[in-house]
Amino acid sequence: MPENPNETKLVNFAMANGTRRKIINFLADSHKSTREIGEIIGEATLDFHLRILQQAGLIELDKEVVKLSEYGKNFLKSKTEKIEEKIVDFSQAKPIEIASIRQVLPCIADSSRLRVSANMTPPLGGVLKLLEPLFPRSNYSDRKDSLIIQKGEIITTIYGSGKVSIRMVKNEAEAKEELERLKNIINEAIAKGEAPALREKVKVDLMEIYKHLPQTNCGKCGEQGCYSFAIKLMARQTALEMCTPLKEPEYASNQENLQVLVDYI
Ligand code: SF4
Repeated sequence: MPENPNETKLVNFAMANGTRRKIINFLADSHKSTREIGEIIGEATLDFHLRILQQAGLIELDKEVVKLSEYGKNFLKSKTEKIEEKIVDFSQAKPIEIASIRQVLPCIADSSRLRVSANMTPPLGGVLKLLEPLFPRSNYSDRKDSLIIQKGEIITTIYGSGKVSIRMVKNEAEAKEELERLKNIINEAIAKGEAPALREKVKVDLMEIYKHLPQTNCGKCGEQGCYSFAIKLMARQTALEMCTPLKEPEYASNQENLQVLVDYI
């Protein structure tokens, strides 16, 4: 493991990105060709991601062949062990209740909508990650220990600590209705005592990001157009705030959606 803080920074930066984590996991069993990796993550940013992983010392590149370095293998092993430790036995999970709604505020992106905070008791802790397959449009983040669930425009984030936040609801009644719906789905799975079957995770991809941008190609972000901006966002080479038109009221829900997607790149 690197002891030099600069090296640690490189590793943290490399592994903060979903695409690069995907590459590392893909290499877990054996070495792969750059073509095989390109088929999985796309060719557009392949060189960029491989270079970052190589700089962090996680992979070795020999012509067209990519493999985990010794350090990369140890890193992956330690991460897998940590994740296994975090997950509790699903059959021990207890049914949840929604504790009182704590806060109702206007949404930052669209002041005509509300964001609501509540609590789930008992906290779901390690079980939270296992609930992801219950919801067709959802994504679990290890980094934040949170599950984001999207239903139409409503975006709900459940944290392992029990905190729940709902954004883009029309009123408190709609928030309560959504909380009740989520509670019933989760409790039904808990009552069965079995973790839901895994499904293919919804991945954030380039076109999904592009779809939510204004698509005016105005260039205010310093890029040639929205597609170039989307590529830079995917590579974490720019920030969402650089697209200033997103702050206009007509793009409020686009910005809200992009904010969620960008968190999971
Ligand atoms: S500022 Fe936004 S709308 Fe304008 S080109 Fe960049 S991404 Fe597209």
